[in-house]
Amino acid sequence: MEDQYIWSVTSKGHFSVASTYSISLKGLLHQSQSKWLKIWHLPTIPKIQHLLWKTIHNKLPLPDLLLNRGLNISSRCNLCDEPRQSTEHLFMKCPLIVPIWNQVGITHLLGNNNFITVLESIITSLNTANRDSILYTALVYSILWYVWVGYWDHTFRHEPFIANRILLRAITVAKETLQHFKVRIHHPTRFISWSRPSSPFLKFNIDSASRGNPGEAGIGGVCCDSQARFICAFFEGVGWNSALVAEALAARRALSIARNLNLRHVIIESDNLLLINLLNGQIAEAPWRIAAIVSDCRSISF
Ligand SMILES: [Zn+2]
Repeated sequence: MEDQYIWSVTSKGHFSVASTYSISLKGLLHQSQSKWLKIWHLPTIPKIQHLLWKTIHNKLPLPDLLLNRGLNISSRCNLCDEPRQSTEHLFMKCPLIVPIWNQVGITHLLGNNNFITVLESIITSLNTANRDSILYTALVYSILWYVWVGYWDHTFRHEPFIANRILLRAITVAKETLQHFKVRIHHPTRFISWSRPSSPFLKFNIDSASRGNPGEAGIGGVCCDSQARFICAFFEGVGWNSALVAEALAARRALSIARNLNLRHVIIESDNLLLINLLNGQIAEAPWRIAAIVSDCRSISF
């Protein structure tokens, strides 16, 4: 293939103003907020995500913030009469809140840490494939939400702030979250089968895997004949690559092995429909990242 200019942001490699805007926007977000963007993917309801987002950006309209903005209001905590109400006091240090954290056994996290650090450690430790981890984080977020609601119900409606009631509400929401995610955690078993190629064909089953997309990637393949007899196999690391590139590299490796062993009538089987359609010629223009590899595959196989 001849060298050509490629605009690497788009799959076809063509320049567009929209792609430039998109990538610059991502860059800005990445610089300022990337570690907090995960809040929007947390296993919880949107109103709690908004509360967390405002909390970590210090945007909750509590007396501490409102006084700094020049509002003439009382600075006291309406629950315990502490002289300065702040996010850290309301969610961590208020004597009416501490018993809630004690009851759920996570006082150690609160220790001497700053509240944002505590939130960050909870968010980053979440494992969405683990039932206990989801329940734990859902409970923490739900407690924060009901403390927030309870504080304002007490302030404006003079409703008593009862720690046990807050905790019971939070547990209910946390359990609902768990039920919701249970569905996603449990992946139903799918049965797949391998079909023999008809003689005189051989079948090369190829696959690839990467830690992330892109990420450290590996490829492999097994070739069998129409009697399901083993002919040959390969596996190797292919460095830092996207899933699509790795799959294309697996196809090229399989075809080159078949050529070197003088194997004819070889079928390549892959779970990547785009790659198969490209190799079959049903799609003519390959994404630029794999264009050269697809071109190699075509020249080997014909
Ligand atoms: Zn207080």
